[in-house]
Amino acid sequence: MAPLSGKVALVTGGSRGIGRAIVEALAGQGADVAINYVQSAAEAQDLASRFQTSGTRAIAVQANVGIEDEARGMVDRTVSELGRLDFLVNNAGIGRDRAIQNMTGEDWRAVMDVNLNGTFYCTSAAIPHMIEAGGGKIINIASVLGALSNLGQVNYATSKAAIVGFTHAAAMELTRYNISMNAVCPGFIETDMMSGITDRKREQFLSRIPMGRFGTAEEIASLVRYLIVEQHWSTGQAFSVNGGQYVTI
Ligand code: NAP
Repeated sequence: MAPLSGKVALVTGGSRGIGRAIVEALAGQGADVAINYVQSAAEAQDLASRFQTSGTRAIAVQANVGIEDEARGMVDRTVSELGRLDFLVNNAGIGRDRAIQNMTGEDWRAVMDVNLNGTFYCTSAAIPHMIEAGGGKIINIASVLGALSNLGQVNYATSKAAIVGFTHAAAMELTRYNISMNAVCPGFIETDMMSGITDRKREQFLSRIPMGRFGTAEEIASLVRYLIVEQHWSTGQAFSVNGGQYVTI
């Protein structure tokens, strides 16, 4: 039997990029999956349909994780349609890059709402369901940029550093319920998030990566799969996957 057979995973921002690779990795281990998206309805529904034809129960759930009612409604819908909740991957994230003096309050709040507040809303809503299931695992996708920042990213860097702090603090509270929480901190990964950068910036980023290349979404998903399927004595930690960039979080 597949290791996650009979279990249910909710992945926020599961329609594209890293989240999509995580959905595929967990479904590949037998989990039923809730695929959250905010705009990419076709991508999320196509992915869910593909799993359904192979016998995996899968639903696509639209919700803006930065809006508390929508985040909570998404968690409740996952449980009402798939029956339980064992794993939550807080992956949805955005950037709104600008030099600090040009950054508006709206740029700041938009990034905090999705990256940080969304992580809190989804986690808080998931905990009672995980307690009911006898335990669970939560993975928060942070970033190398929580520790080593880039110019023009004070909002993004702050949100990602805060996710690591959130992970340390929440994990302490959750062990008593048999729920673990860890953060995964990717380096630069080839996804849509990176598609807008100039060739000059790409060269700059590459020069900072000792292994000399960007990572893939699958390389992040494989660590998430490992933490969920194989690692049972780790909580409150931040794991870096970044081609050798040295960080101290
Ligand atoms: P991506 O390709 O831009 O995909 C972002 C995903 O998040 C999409 O599925 C998107 O849904 C979803 N999303 C955006 N806003 C949302 C909201 N308000 N509510 C719900 N879902 C929302 O990004 P990615 O590169 O895969 O990044 C995934 C995570 O990894 C993010 O947290 C990011 O900060 C982090 N990360 C990425 C990198 C990198 O280099 N790519 C490095 C470090 C960390 P729609 O498809 O519906 O728009």
